[in-house]
Amino acid sequence: MNILVNGPQGSGKTTQAKLLAEKYNLNFLDSGSMLRESFDTDLGKKAKEYMDKGAYVPEDIYFQILKQFIETKCDKSKGIIMTGFPRTVAQIPFMENELNIKLDHVIDLKVSPEEFMKRLELRRDLEKRDDETPKAIRSRLLEHERKTGPVIDYFREQGIVLEVNGEGSIEDIHQNILNSISK
Ligand code: AMP
Repeated sequence: MNILVNGPQGSGKTTQAKLLAEKYNLNFLDSGSMLRESFDTDLGKKAKEYMDKGAYVPEDIYFQILKQFIETKCDKSKGIIMTGFPRTVAQIPFMENELNIKLDHVIDLKVSPEEFMKRLELRRDLEKRDDETPKAIRSRLLEHERKTGPVIDYFREQGIVLEVNGEGSIEDIHQNILNSISK
């Protein structure tokens, strides 16, 4: 089983994806963490320059880091649960044709703008990241909406998008996701 969890920054998508990976015994890819963990490599250093500005990492750099991750960190006999990839429509053919991943479900976490800002404020207090200045956050939010909207639309046409209420406790949301997958 291959699953994409989508949601804006602060939606809890990484936490939920991790829980699902444990529940279904799947490989786990959090695109942002993968990139941050590559910062001590030459490619990772290049990626960081874009991330610090709140921009997406260009595909030629991103795909190399991703391919390496899939080859070295993933168990090929298992499916995968991903967040943050594919993030643009242009990344979908790479997933399907180069990595041979066909999605079974796309979980689209829905969070109201008020709840969203609240969570972001909380997280910013907890972990200081270079790419979490207010300006970078705004830029990322806009870019997320502009670029992932078409990704979700692409999978909606295939009938595999599950819209899930992303408000409530971590356990509540996890349960909402499990319910919608088993329907
Ligand atoms: P995230 O932790 O998912 O919010 O990602 C942090 C940053 O990593 C993003 O703002 C982008 O700069 C970069 N990034 C993550 N995923 C991708 C992707 N699929 N393609 C390009 N850049 C990405």
